[in-house]
Amino acid sequence: TVPQVPPPQRARPKPSSKPAVFIPVDRSPEMQEARLKLPILAEEQVIMEAINENPIVIICGETGSGKTTQVPQFLYEAGYASSNGIIGITEPRRVAAVSMSQRVAKEMNLSHREVSYQIRYEGNVTDETKIKFMTDGVLLKEIQKDFLLSRYKVIIIDEAHERSVYTDILIGLLSRIVPLREKKRQPMKLIVMSATLRVEDFTENKRLFSAPPPVIQVDARQFPVTVHFNKRTPFDDYSGECFRKVCKIHRMLPPGGILAFLTGQAEVHSLCRRLRKAFPFRKNKVEGDGDKEDTVEEISRFKKSRRKKTMTLPKIDLDSYSVMPVDEGDEDREAETDDEDIAGSDHDLDLGDDEMEEGEKSDSSLPLYVLPLYSLLAPEKQAKVFRPPPPGTRLCIVATNVAETSLTIPGIKYVVDCGKVKKRFYDKATGVSSFRVTWTSQASANQRAGRAGRTEPGHCYRLYSSAVFGDFEKFSPPEITRRPVEDLILQMKSLNIEKTVNFPFPTPPPTDALVAAEELLIALGALQEPPKTGRLKELQKAKLSCPISPLGTVMASFPVAPRYAKMLALSKQYDCLPYTITIVSAMTVRELFEEFDRPAVSEEETEKLKGKRARVVQMQRIWAGQGASQKLGDLMVMLGAVGACEYAGCTPQFCETNGLRYKAMVEIRRLRGQLTTAVNSVCPDAGLYVDPKMKPPTAAQVTYLRQIVLAGLGDHIARRIQAEELLDEKWKNAYKTPLLDDPVFIHPNSVLFKQLPEFVVYQEIVETTKMYMKGVSAIEPEWIPVLLPPYCHFGKPMEYPPPSYCPETGKIKCHRPSVFYRVGWQLPAVEV
Ligand code: ADP
Ligand code: MG
Repeated sequence: TVPQVPPPQRARPKPSSKPAVFIPVDRSPEMQEARLKLPILAEEQVIMEAINENPIVIICGETGSGKTTQVPQFLYEAGYASSNGIIGITEPRRVAAVSMSQRVAKEMNLSHREVSYQIRYEGNVTDETKIKFMTDGVLLKEIQKDFLLSRYKVIIIDEAHERSVYTDILIGLLSRIVPLREKKRQPMKLIVMSATLRVEDFTENKRLFSAPPPVIQVDARQFPVTVHFNKRTPFDDYSGECFRKVCKIHRMLPPGGILAFLTGQAEVHSLCRRLRKAFPFRKNKVEGDGDKEDTVEEISRFKKSRRKKTMTLPKIDLDSYSVMPVDEGDEDREAETDDEDIAGSDHDLDLGDDEMEEGEKSDSSLPLYVLPLYSLLAPEKQAKVFRPPPPGTRLCIVATNVAETSLTIPGIKYVVDCGKVKKRFYDKATGVSSFRVTWTSQASANQRAGRAGRTEPGHCYRLYSSAVFGDFEKFSPPEITRRPVEDLILQMKSLNIEKTVNFPFPTPPPTDALVAAEELLIALGALQEPPKTGRLKELQKAKLSCPISPLGTVMASFPVAPRYAKMLALSKQYDCLPYTITIVSAMTVRELFEEFDRPAVSEEETEKLKGKRARVVQMQRIWAGQGASQKLGDLMVMLGAVGACEYAGCTPQFCETNGLRYKAMVEIRRLRGQLTTAVNSVCPDAGLYVDPKMKPPTAAQVTYLRQIVLAGLGDHIARRIQAEELLDEKWKNAYKTPLLDDPVFIHPNSVLFKQLPEFVVYQEIVETTKMYMKGVSAIEPEWIPVLLPPYCHFGKPMEYPPPSYCPETGKIKCHRPSVFYRVGWQLPAVEV
């Protein structure tokens, strides 16, 4: 036997000392050359020294300077990724996580097993992974499982300037995790990377970092960009204005890519279509591209071939979900017609004479290679923007604000900026949300302009006047100050952060938002109730530091909003889980049905939309079912639609025919799988398995589902205004909710629009012409005191008149014996 020699005593490395190793990377010469052009390469030594010497470093650099792609490589080469810890990078957008992991793998000549990504539904992480790109939400979930993030040697928080809520929370958490790791002698590095915007929120925030971390500024070689403002601002038709501007640039200005910023996916597609039609490919076929959308000829051939085929629907089990036979007329999809005479548009363009030398004008017959770019675009299609356009064409990318900072597209010389952005707005008091297109901020507009000067001097055409620009906000306020925070608060409570007001947020959410979130969580039973008696000051203090309850812990383990998590937590009873999982998935994904209310471009389209809408209304009525199931309303429609779609094999055709969004259906399927796994891990005896096809619920189950929905959406109750309460004719068919002073209405697209049940719960209120409730289900008032005691007053236990609504307090009053008060979460029995 070999004598036992004690291992040599190695000096412990100083926590922040440089790892001794240097890991060589085998890059191709072309890659190496391309890298050397990036401004960040000049700063490698400075950056690595700062990282070696400091636990926390902030790197600031203009978009495109190479932060995202290069810093992970610097760290890898310096030996920061090893068997006992890897490099993690968070991105606020899924697009960026996927595409950046692919890019870095390619640059380093490593496989996707080593440079991997993880986003909500998918990933390719392996045991060999050394560099892991992920969305910020993914890392937050990992912190819940392992607070010290012991798998990581380095965490890079990328795009910190975007100030997404998860990024903000992560920075707050990591500001505490880093010193803890240091204490445990397993040091970890935190690198915060940002475009050159407002880093003071991080550096000058004493609660966040006791000593301000060093900031390294990467000077990008930015070429001058000439900004041209429109003389007047087209307030409505910015899309049309964008089209005209791109056409004019393409006709009149020298070669160079065009990047146009619009606000949403539908607009992006519509502009792409118009541009492709205006400047079709004539000779140039795109080689090896395989994307049929790229030439107009191909589109029409494709459409013709589809038209000829007779559509046969997959067989559907009629006992499960009834589906109407398809009339063939619906399948006949015409290419969208767009007869605008492009040559005739002589809009007053501000293309100054200086850049339009005679003779320099380009040939207007040059084809335009038009590509869309938005965050939900399939990754293969996203990757196309990085490839050079086919020879003899001009690249034109029509993008949403993903192209603002997360992705840098090569070869852009002209930027067309509509100046708008689509944002979700919340009313803090009521939780009413609406998507609104608003002016962007000055900082964002400047970011957009900067995209034009990456490779040579460029031009930015702003489709608004300089006066309008002057009125823009300087910066967009961080997301955390603009949205409800109950999901974050629940996550924080599950990390045992009880006093959320003391949390080191880079920018704290308003206190009323914190209070609203805690109140909701208490009402849902996710937090332990604060004491009811005592001194007011103490009571108020206790209110904002309630620990999590056992129910809350279960809820926090589901990757959905707390209201939906509560629904899942109740659903093991009466075998309701598969249905609740489906309903919750559908509510989380939102917008199952195509939008038919959009303005049509032509009369023909108007007719087409009308036809489609009629069919969808018919289908919704079928899916809502008969008798008892009807009362589950729009949620029954969701259940029916998902069930029918799965029975039909979840095909694009089925979705198209029935007005469902195929993408939404695919996402629902994924989320159902994910939630099933989550339920099984929380409750192993649930024994659920993923069966996309489920039998329709029984009448009793539908009633239980209505109770479950009520328990989750308890603060979203509405009661129909009775005839005698009608103060005003315009309140006819209106509902009153405890939260709002104004009347609300059932959305015309709801299956309960005509039925007007007395008590309903709704998924959300959206404000368009009126306040509309969407996702509506009917409930029975006697369930309220059982399932939602915090929302009820209790009258005298002797008499039991039906619950009534109190207009002064806005509360629903239930005159029920307080015996009901603590029945727990058992669902009331249902007579079958
Ligand atoms: P930053 O993070 O500072 O904004 P990036 O590291 O994202 O910069 O980009 C650096 C350079 O790498 C840019 O010039 C960009 O065009 C290029 N690049 C990024 N992704 C790809 C890709 N998938 N294909 C080709 N070039 C890319
Ligand atoms: Mg980046």
